[in-house]
Formats: sequence, C-alpha cells, structure tokens
Amino acid sequence: MHIKNRSEATSITSRYIYMQGGNIMSATEDTWLHTEASQLSHVAWLEQPLFVAELDGEDVYLQVLESDQECQLVSHHGREMMSVLPAAQADLLARALQLSHWLRDHQYCGRCGQATQLHKSDYGMHCETCAHTQYPRLSPCVIVVITGPKGILLAHNTRFPAGRFSALAGFVEAGETIEAAVHREVREEVGIEIRDLEYVGSQSWSFPHSLMMGFMATYESGEIQEDGIEIDEADWFNPDCLPDLPPKFSIARQLVDIGLAKSV
Ligand SMILES: [Zn+2]
Repeated sequence: MHIKNRSEATSITSRYIYMQGGNIMSATEDTWLHTEASQLSHVAWLEQPLFVAELDGEDVYLQVLESDQECQLVSHHGREMMSVLPAAQADLLARALQLSHWLRDHQYCGRCGQATQLHKSDYGMHCETCAHTQYPRLSPCVIVVITGPKGILLAHNTRFPAGRFSALAGFVEAGETIEAAVHREVREEVGIEIRDLEYVGSQSWSFPHSLMMGFMATYESGEIQEDGIEIDEADWFNPDCLPDLPPKFSIARQLVDIGLAKSV
C-alpha cells in the first residue's frame, strides 16, 4: 500500500471499496476491490469517492453507501476480512475503515459546533465558520509480551472470549512517554515490574483508531496480581502448554511468537 496526497491520485485505473453500515460490500471476500464506482446513493458526509491509497499501481477510493437502500452484495465484517487478506490489502482495508469511522464521527466542528466539510485537499474535516480543521485521530497504544523464568506472561481480558489469552496492552495517556506507558500498564494490570524494553514494531489497528506499538520486556520483580477490572486472569505460559492465542495477523501474535521462541 502506498499512501500519497489526495491530489496525487492520478493512476490510469481505479478501484472502489463500497462500505455500508460499517461493513464491506462485495459478492465474495476476494472481490471487494470493485472496478466501477457504485451508482447507489452515498452518505451526506462523503458525497464523492475518497482516495484511500495506491495498491499495485491502482488508486483505490472509498464510497460509503446510504444504509436505507438495497445493495445486491454480501456484507463482510472488516476485521474478519483482514484476517484472511494478504498483508498489503489488509493494511489498505484498515486505512479505509479508519478513515470512514473518523469522517462519520466528525461531521460537526468540535470547536464551534457547525457542520464541517471534507477539506479540499487534506484528509481532514474543515469548518468554514471558524476555520478549524480536524484531522483523523490516532490513539497510541502499547502492547507488550513479558518473558520470565516460567515462560511468557499472557492475560485474559474480560472482553476476550473464554480461554483466549494475549499480550498486555493499553493506551498512552496525555503527556506520557511510550516507555512509561508500558511500565504503568503492566503495573496496573498485573502488578509486576519489568525491565529491558525492546521495541519490536507497530501495527495500525483500526477498531476504531489505535496505533499499536509492540514491545518485548523482561520480568523484574513482583507477584502476578490481576486488576480484576480489565484483566481477570494472567499466567506464565510456555510452548508445551498454550491457551487460545490471538490471530496470526495481529501484532499481539507476533510478540507472542517471539516470546515463545525465546523461552524454548
Ligand atoms: Zn468551527
């Protein structure tokens, strides 16, 4: 996926993503990049197709269809599609989902309350009344797998399905460094201290606008004490005894796999 300015969307061929009611509309999961623009009605907050990014030499546009009209296509959930698409397509879909959610939620100016319009050239919603422009929100989020003498530390979040364990994660607070956020989240959620933070990589997680920053860390001290609010169970795991893990395409799983390789 190649992100470029909206004014640079000049490729000869274009593709279109149709969204309706927050889902992707296509005949099958493989045919979600349409060759023609949809002739159905668009939502008022996105009247023209919005350039998302270039993929394999083609400019891809997003169209959001009014939900009170019949669309002769099947509705696919974005997160489920991302789990089966090649990485570049999944990234593009993540960006389209994130932009659409953000545009839907910023139809009014956060400063003066008047209606906003899509900025002429930027990815932003502009208010003609007070000249304020809002840009797509990103929420930095840290995620960490901790290695220790008994294996890797994974936790069951109260929002997870039963039996699913993953890395610890949480949002960076205003005014906080990323590193401090990792230490704080671990302390808050499981009550232990860590050391030797190692940055691994990042992943855009568009549900709805997180930017996940993945770390490995080493256990330092303390006994596991779940917070009982977000985390109801946490434990050390090794390759011989694993719970249900997050999906392969997630950065959480990438961290888990690094941790397991280290603990062999
Ligand atoms: Zn305004």
